Amino acid sequence: MQKTHVAIIGGGLTGLSIAYFLSQRGISCTIFEQHDRCGGVISTIHHDGFTFECGPNTGVLGNVEIEKLFDELQTNCTLETAQKSAKVRLIWKQGAWRALPSGLWSAITTPLFTFFDKLRILGEPFRKAGINPNETVYELVLRRMGKSFHDYAVAPFINGVYAGNTKTLVTRFALAKLYALEQTYGSFIRGAIAKAKYNKKNSIPTPSKQVFTCKGGLQNLITALEKNSKATIFTQCQNVLVEPFQNEYNVRFTLNGQQENKTFSHVITTCNAYSLPRVLPWLSTYHTQIFESVEYAPVVQVAVGFKNWNGMNIQAFGGLVPPCENRDILGVLFPSSMFGNRAPQGGAMLSVFLGGMLRPDIIHKTDDEITAIVARELQHMLFIPHWNPDLIRIFRYTHAIVQYTKHMEQVFASIDEIEHTHTNLIIAGSVRNGIGMADRVLQAWNIAQRLSI
Ligand SMILES: Cc1cc2nc3c(=O)[nH]c(=O)nc-3n(C[C@H](O)[C@H](O)[C@H](O)COP(=O)(O)OP(=O)(O)OC[C@H]3O[C@@H](n4cnc5c(N)ncnc54)[C@H](O)[C@@H]3O)c2cc1C
Repeated sequence: MQKTHVAIIGGGLTGLSIAYFLSQRGISCTIFEQHDRCGGVISTIHHDGFTFECGPNTGVLGNVEIEKLFDELQTNCTLETAQKSAKVRLIWKQGAWRALPSGLWSAITTPLFTFFDKLRILGEPFRKAGINPNETVYELVLRRMGKSFHDYAVAPFINGVYAGNTKTLVTRFALAKLYALEQTYGSFIRGAIAKAKYNKKNSIPTPSKQVFTCKGGLQNLITALEKNSKATIFTQCQNVLVEPFQNEYNVRFTLNGQQENKTFSHVITTCNAYSLPRVLPWLSTYHTQIFESVEYAPVVQVAVGFKNWNGMNIQAFGGLVPPCENRDILGVLFPSSMFGNRAPQGGAMLSVFLGGMLRPDIIHKTDDEITAIVARELQHMLFIPHWNPDLIRIFRYTHAIVQYTKHMEQVFASIDEIEHTHTNLIIAGSVRNGIGMADRVLQAWNIAQRLSI
């Protein structure tokens, strides 16, 4: 009988989580990573009393699998959830920050939404479910909730999560859980209530949905996964390519200038869509074009540290900026308000996001130009009288977040076709099953459970 040995292409959160869950099943695996470190876009820097992230800052404990993972890794990495006082999410509207409503009274009194839309929301449970499977987020929110909900809740949320455009993201792909609620129960409100009741009645564990990081930064999750997965890890692997060969797969790669070749029973790719044609060079021209046409939002993240904070009270999760407000940043997170030890006592660590699908020009700006935008926007929006940051670091991602647009229908169909014709080849990563860290862990768990030995 053929022995199971799995090759995982890419050592980001998805690849490492797959390796960890496979190790738990006693399945041996090898990770091929092109860079000199694992972690992908996740990386934490400690500098001059500040701790800051280069990529994602926070995740949401959105499924029980990620909660279980943190439980299992606790000796090597401590889960840290956001402080209660920092739960408030701010939305920028006409020159001031407004708290996103978190209860009935604040929903009634908030100046974010129009009186008409607040009344209209009462009718949401009675509105018909949509029939267009490719309805965009914009169309859906307008149909069910109203324009002010779109402009001052959903659009800034989409800016914060996808750095995306509500007019091109398709609800059934981008907000799959929300879409399912409407399709199954006819309404978000009725669906949410029915689902909560069903889970309670059937004792289905529900995740806490708390905002998380790891004590000391997300890099500690990566290090803990590396330590606890029994995978062989090859970093600095260049020209990795996978070739089907007699019911198995040859993985060819260059390591320290040497061409190498290893054989595996299974291969799981976790790289971005645009890398797939290089890794799987035998893909048809059609599939190559499909993967190369997947859109990614370009994002610039700027870490800004102050040893002495002199701006407004930032006891909040952060602030999101609606596109209709026409400002130059997507939003700003307040990691030092959410988590411990991010800045020296009395200081602040901010994480500013710029660019996205609606401002793709920003990534092409020089460091000086980006610094000037951040200085101008933060001074104005966070009421900082003296602009004297002690730290500014700029991180650019030309392909930060995959956009689940209508095109993804062809992408998912292509993945199904390829996996169908190539047994034991799995195409994973954020090209399917969601873009957040919790989605990545859930996908890894599902793949590891269903992998046939
Ligand atoms: C700027 C930014 C902010 C984000 N913010 C959040 C957030 O706040 N909350 C949240 O939940 N999520 C956030 N995300 C998304 C989250 O970070 C990702 O979903 C997750 O980290 C992706 O992990 P991954 O392993 O799928 O991909 P990656 O991290 O991209 O890892 C893929 C790995 O594959 C390697 N690779 C690629 N091609 C090859 C090849 N040909 N050969 C060998 N190796 C290869 C890469 O070098 C990389 O290490 C953010 C992402 C970015 C970029």
